[in-house]
Amino acid sequence: MPPTRPLRGERALTSTTAPARFVLFPLHVVRSTRITAHLARITLGGESLAGFVNGGLDQRIKLLLPQPGQTEPLTPPGAGEFGWYQSWRAMDPAVRPVLRTYTVRAQRRDPDEIDIDIAVQGDHGPGSRWAVKTAPGDRVIVCGPAVEEAGGVEFRLPPSADWVLLAGDESALPAVAAILDELPAGLPVRVFAEVEGPGEEGYLPTGRPGVEVTWLHRGEDVDPVLPTAVRAAELPPGEPYAWIAGEAASVRELRRHLVRERGIDRRAVCFMGYWRAGRTEDQRAEDGPAVDDD
Ligand SMILES: Cc1cc2nc3c(=O)[nH]c(=O)nc-3n(C[C@H](O)[C@H](O)[C@H](O)COP(=O)(O)OP(=O)(O)OC[C@H]3O[C@@H](n4cnc5c(N)ncnc54)[C@H](O)[C@@H]3O)c2cc1C
Repeated sequence: MPPTRPLRGERALTSTTAPARFVLFPLHVVRSTRITAHLARITLGGESLAGFVNGGLDQRIKLLLPQPGQTEPLTPPGAGEFGWYQSWRAMDPAVRPVLRTYTVRAQRRDPDEIDIDIAVQGDHGPGSRWAVKTAPGDRVIVCGPAVEEAGGVEFRLPPSADWVLLAGDESALPAVAAILDELPAGLPVRVFAEVEGPGEEGYLPTGRPGVEVTWLHRGEDVDPVLPTAVRAAELPPGEPYAWIAGEAASVRELRRHLVRERGIDRRAVCFMGYWRAGRTEDQRAEDGPAVDDD
């Protein structure tokens, strides 16, 4: 049976000396739902979420997942005292939790819950595998914001923007949806969403005034379709603010197009490589920045 009340020991691990911006929240899976063909919604709950301060928009978090053979992730020892990341790095790589980055799609109170939507097409790695097989009651640790303006939110709309461009693949759609939730009504928004096929098209809200969504199907083609589609598109007049995320090479190409060919001010283009073809998140952490700022 899924737990209906917070499990014991789900208090946030915080520092006793200074308020940490990001802390570890021990949580459990409340529900797991397949919301489209290739996106799974994992709803997490727990007592510690009372102290979770979602910054909204594209707020990122880290999931700390169990290694194969473990029933729950080991808590980095001493994480509350001297910072969870150093503590995690000092752990034996064979047993320390797998770290993966995701977006907070939604947060609710009474009961305290957060939703994380995870792309699960194919067999990516431990993150997508966990999302496919996790069940209510499974334990997980989230590293998330514990204070206002903790960081991890990249979307910053300048007051001067006349319209907004949002572009990304399945990994970026949770952030796109959360951003759309918060944009001022009536602000023109062009969304370019690259997905495997029509099975994802129900994911974004429809009928919002001013929001035009173009769905791009990858199908069997592994080449990124996003830069090609935006290059061919007629975009609205005026000063844009662009937010792009997804596979690193595709994001880089699209960003170059916007800055070099469209002449958009580089400061008005927010871009993030959310994953890189052929590289795991652990490998990318060793590689350094996934997208060059050139
Ligand atoms: C700030 C930020 C926010 C993010 N938010 C989300 C989110 O809300 N939802 C979400 O699903 N992802 C999100 N991502 C992307 C996610 O962190 C990566 O996709 C991650 O690599 C998934 O881990 P994994 O264990 O499944 O695969 P890994 O073990 O990291 O990689 C295994 C293999 O799968 C490939 N791969 C990884 N991700 C994908 C993908 N999406 N499509 C196709 N192949 C892939 C890799 O290239 C590699 O070859 C976010 C990333 C960042 C940086």
